[in-house]
Amino acid sequence: MTVTLPDNWATLVGPVAVREFDNAADRYKPDLLAWAQNLPALPDDEFVTVAARSIYDSANVGRFRGNWDHEHFKATVCFTEANRRHVAAGHSEDCRGDNLYSRAYARALRNNGHRAPEAVPCQCGKG
Ligand SMILES: [Zn+2]
Repeated sequence: MTVTLPDNWATLVGPVAVREFDNAADRYKPDLLAWAQNLPALPDDEFVTVAARSIYDSANVGRFRGNWDHEHFKATVCFTEANRRHVAAGHSEDCRGDNLYSRAYARALRNNGHRAPEAVPCQCGKG
């Protein structure tokens, strides 16, 4: 099965996810491509829900043997997309304040009975 990737693929998903996609089982690739292309269109609250699930799934499958790069891919793409949204909202590229990924990560922890990390304030002055 051949999947034709869009020209902006590396920018869309980030370099780590490019490798995870390449390494994923071919049967997942059409769905992963469609999923990644749809992600930027999600409203922020839906994005955080999807990201929290992706982060949880990626962490959870580490307990099992086998190729789970299709799950790791999703969490990595959420990381890239959260950074894109952070900058689009006016933050600097190197602002390490909480973004939608860290919100999703905290939610994934809380949903599974863990304590979430302390909030990290914006460091670039955007607020
Ligand atoms: Zn900032």
